[in-house]
Amino acid sequence: MKIMKFGGTSVGRPDRMHHVATLITRDEEPKIVVLSALSGTTNALVSIGEAMSQGDKDLAKQQIDKLSSHYDQFIQDLLVDERFRQKAKAVIAEHFEFLQIILKISFNEALNKDILAQGELMSTKMFSIYLEQQGIDHVLLPALEFMNIDFNDEPQIGTIRVKLNQLLQQNPQCKLFITQGYISRNARGEVDNLKRGGSDYSASLISAAVNASVCEIWTDIDGMHNNDPRVVKKTFPIEQLSFDEAAELAYFGAKILHPASIWPAQQYKIPVKLLNTMEPEAKGTLIQEEAGSVGVKAVAAKDGITVVKIKSSRMLLAYGFLRKIFEVFEKYRTPIDMITTSEVAVSLTIDNDASLPAILRELEPFGDVEVTRDQSIIAIVGNEIAQTKDLLGRLFMALSPVPVRMVSYGGSAHNISVLIPGQYKNQTLQLLNSGIFGLE
Ligand code: ADP
Ligand code: ASP
Ligand code: MG
Repeated sequence: MKIMKFGGTSVGRPDRMHHVATLITRDEEPKIVVLSALSGTTNALVSIGEAMSQGDKDLAKQQIDKLSSHYDQFIQDLLVDERFRQKAKAVIAEHFEFLQIILKISFNEALNKDILAQGELMSTKMFSIYLEQQGIDHVLLPALEFMNIDFNDEPQIGTIRVKLNQLLQQNPQCKLFITQGYISRNARGEVDNLKRGGSDYSASLISAAVNASVCEIWTDIDGMHNNDPRVVKKTFPIEQLSFDEAAELAYFGAKILHPASIWPAQQYKIPVKLLNTMEPEAKGTLIQEEAGSVGVKAVAAKDGITVVKIKSSRMLLAYGFLRKIFEVFEKYRTPIDMITTSEVAVSLTIDNDASLPAILRELEPFGDVEVTRDQSIIAIVGNEIAQTKDLLGRLFMALSPVPVRMVSYGGSAHNISVLIPGQYKNQTLQLLNSGIFGLE
């Protein structure tokens, strides 16, 4: 069985949905097809939620009505048979009725998650009706019945496997399943999600749960590029990456993959392919156990980083100091990305500062605490990168115009990270493109 995941732009226009239908029927292998919401929908649902949380019901209503007209037109263009058009209209109308009802009830976070789930629910239902119109046999699998996350928001592959297999066994003859990416059910039984871009994560979890032959991530670009194509003009696709390399790139900001999307596939040794829906014959990127080659593969950037620096002479020759500091971050469930220490100070970075005020209060007794916001981590990733001849020389030569704040080298065999002020990000990515990859 193989998994094929199609992102927002791949299903974001009626003609693209038609094209997806041809891609999933090209071979006979049984499949689970994971769909995102139509491009722009989740952003719209986020702003509807924001308007609601600020009590601005008029604005929320305006946004709901605008989205609703978009779906009316989409159905009109997607389907030609009036019978199926009417069916799709009725199905989508239910979702917009739900959105109209929320305008009348009090807003809370659980309701917000319900709002955010509408995108994937609508895209899969419309696609299913399109397949029906085309006479393509399939079954729609409700992700909310198998995609579970626990009290720590962590998906549990064991539970997902049991529930998903039960659903698959109910349809033993079926060769084509369609399901929603992104959405999940949490430990309280409420509708939840795997965070923005989470459909990649859904696909990887499903691959692991069914021991898929491959997890194909179909998107709008021909694979993982050596640098961020949104920032740098000349970039090129990478043919092969190891799981470790891909995981680092995803975690450190390569938007093509959700930050956590590699570990399930890696744990169950399922190869992942990044493919281009608009150019299906392009090679794309194969991600598997072996790296393919040694040396630098790509750079990526993660924005919105906050540095916390704790300075204390009590650190001198003391032990247990770092443990106490780490315990504070652990207590507030705030992951640390980079860390550098000297005899009297430690600097560490976080990307989630929701609990920062409480963390700072608890850190105060340890020494002088300094906070700097709006930093970016630039990750330079490649198998055995540290052994690449002249790399450090070339790296720091390229970075000479940039005020580097922290460096992490040696923590991992396939990553060197530097921390820079956010406003230098674009320039840094460009400088590395010429300094490391020789591209102007
Ligand atoms: P989807 O909607 O299919 O999930 P995304 O927008 O989430 O697509 O991811 C694809 C986008 O990721 C590309 O269009 C590209 O702009 C961006 N991207 C950022 N860094 C990279 C990279 N290193 N390689 C390829 N794409 C990247
Ligand atoms: N629709 C969700 C988002 O936009 C999930 C995804 O596209 O992967 O974040
Ligand atoms: Mg995505």
